[in-house]
Amino acid sequence: MKLMTLDEKIGQMVLYTSDWDLTGPTMRAGYIDDIRKGNCGNVFNAQTAAYVRKLQKIAVEETRLHIPLLFGYDVIHGYKTTFPIPLGEAASWDMSLIEQSARVSATEAAAAGLNWTFAPMCDISVEPRWGRVSEGAGEDPFLGSRIAEARVHGFQGKNLSDLADTLTILACVKHYAAYGAPVAGRDYNTVDMSERVFRDVYLPPYAAAIKAGAMSVMSSFNELNGMPATCNKWLMTDILRGELSFKGFVVTDYNSIQELMNHGVAATESDAAALSANAGIDMDMQSTYYQKHLKELVKQGVVSEKTIDDAVRRILRVKFMLGLFDDPYRYCNEAREKRLEGAPAHLEAACEVAKHSLVLLKNENNALPLKKGEKLVVIGELANSANNLLGSWRAAGDSKMATTILDELRTYNGSQNVIYSEGCKKMGEDRGGFNAALAAARHADKIVMVIGEDCDWTGEAASRTDIRVPGVQTELLEKLKTLNKPVVVVLMNGRPLDLSREDKLADAILEVWFPGTKGGKAITDVLFGEYNPSGKLPITFPRCLGQVPIYYYTKNTGRPIYLSDPKYKSRYLDCPNDPLYPFGYGLSYTTFSYSNISLSGTALKSHGSLKATVTVTNTGKCDGEEVVQLYTRQLVGSVTRPVKELKGFNKIALKAGESKTVTFTVTPDMLAFHRADMSYGTEPGKFQLFIGGNSRDVKQASFTLN
Ligand code: BGC
Repeated sequence: MKLMTLDEKIGQMVLYTSDWDLTGPTMRAGYIDDIRKGNCGNVFNAQTAAYVRKLQKIAVEETRLHIPLLFGYDVIHGYKTTFPIPLGEAASWDMSLIEQSARVSATEAAAAGLNWTFAPMCDISVEPRWGRVSEGAGEDPFLGSRIAEARVHGFQGKNLSDLADTLTILACVKHYAAYGAPVAGRDYNTVDMSERVFRDVYLPPYAAAIKAGAMSVMSSFNELNGMPATCNKWLMTDILRGELSFKGFVVTDYNSIQELMNHGVAATESDAAALSANAGIDMDMQSTYYQKHLKELVKQGVVSEKTIDDAVRRILRVKFMLGLFDDPYRYCNEAREKRLEGAPAHLEAACEVAKHSLVLLKNENNALPLKKGEKLVVIGELANSANNLLGSWRAAGDSKMATTILDELRTYNGSQNVIYSEGCKKMGEDRGGFNAALAAARHADKIVMVIGEDCDWTGEAASRTDIRVPGVQTELLEKLKTLNKPVVVVLMNGRPLDLSREDKLADAILEVWFPGTKGGKAITDVLFGEYNPSGKLPITFPRCLGQVPIYYYTKNTGRPIYLSDPKYKSRYLDCPNDPLYPFGYGLSYTTFSYSNISLSGTALKSHGSLKATVTVTNTGKCDGEEVVQLYTRQLVGSVTRPVKELKGFNKIALKAGESKTVTFTVTPDMLAFHRADMSYGTEPGKFQLFIGGNSRDVKQASFTLN
């Protein structure tokens, strides 16, 4: 730091795109010049070991202080090998698989020269209209926190010293904060929420990721209660560095310092830069305002040199931790790149994660599993699309590596037993293919219809006001239903959809999200019972959009629905209160029964613990896995408390007929929340405790916290 000029320091606070995604490798003059002059200390959207090496060489050999560049990229759910979208991975409730997915992604990305991913996305959301709900872990702070930790450990390793490993990369916790709660579900829109909800629900996953060791954080595009995150000192300095003891650096989201002018909190470019720097934002992604204005702002005394030094120290510390000062080219190894990208073991892992992420929403009339040799008609554009399998953030993902659901069904069941008719497009209104599909279906034993959303209708800037299955897909499903044959719906989508029509029409519904490179194979294995589905919803599926936002940790209200008063209670006139599929829900080809809960005592002391035990039995005919879920409820608090909160889960495997005892330890810290005076802690009183296979169907017990 002592050797650095102010210009060189500011250069470290700048991050520019290489534009690889638009142009491929480029030596675009302006940006290369910025690297050469030390005005741009970090690059994103560059890839391949060879290209990264070229850029790194300029930084290391041609700048005065030879400081290596960071190379960032959106490695969200895979690099070359694509895993299921994060919402799908969350449905696995399997932390070791989620960690493994992040590790494989890190390994492949690191082999392509990268050292920094813009993940994990830790935004809680109860907003199916918001396209980016697909990138998160769903609605729950407890599950979201465990997943955030697993992903940080996968990307970075369990210990900070693991960052120096050439097969791990730096994680970036995003989008801090509360980006998942835009008004009316419109991306980038205003967020307005109470501090209590922010702290109890939205903050925990970011905090968990930081505690797990994440050394960078990305500020979000949105405002929170009137203050854009990009210049929000309370978020970036008071909470992040003060309360959460974060020691890494904060980068903005794309161009968001510039956007402070659109938000209407900065009149000029220079004001915008000053607001961000003084709030505690260390690195400017793409707006150019740090590069253009920070020096002058320091001269004027608007931004102190100490602020700049603090930011640069945080950034350089991470570069040291990554080992870049020992060997700036350590991530650039063409042989490793060739060997690791799309390696067989990685594809196998992607298949495993995909299988565990599928959620069986309905299964009647023995529609599933399919039997080998059954004559199938497969309908729907999505059955024949490799591209959609990969989802919207595919990094370097290559759809040529993926096989479609149709191809995999043919391989498994024999081409002669699988007829395909597109029937209709996923998004269009054209009914021209209906008759052909109906004719083909007449010759089949079972109908498999693959419906859903286009992958580009999910993700960033992809909000919807209608969360039904798009186009005429359901209309065709209605017609197929009249043939009186079992209809299996395979549903590909990135958000909770209103499936009330499909739920009535289909005999079986398998939620497959966007399942990644090996999705076709994973779906085929589940449809034929080679793998017994075990996924559980990480987010509530409503009956209709009018119920949104709907989530299981709702409050009781003063007039709960169970009151006998026929009129004056909290309900809709035209729709039940409960969702179509609750949080934590998912079926299996077998069934599980739960014994009553046995509690080790009825009083929990302030430094004590209680053990809650159930016996779970596989009562069906095949082996299966079950996610055993623990919830609690504080009956009376200084402020109102949710009717249920997830406090633990345990995914267990049970052979047909087998029983296992599952024990959860309940300690007072699990029951802490922000009390009436906003202090964090517990309150003595009565609690209910629930254990079950989803948030609705549970066994119940009671205890008192002393
Ligand atoms: C997104 C981020 C992403 C960044 C860089 C932004 O538009 O909001 O999630 O990491 O672009 O690609």
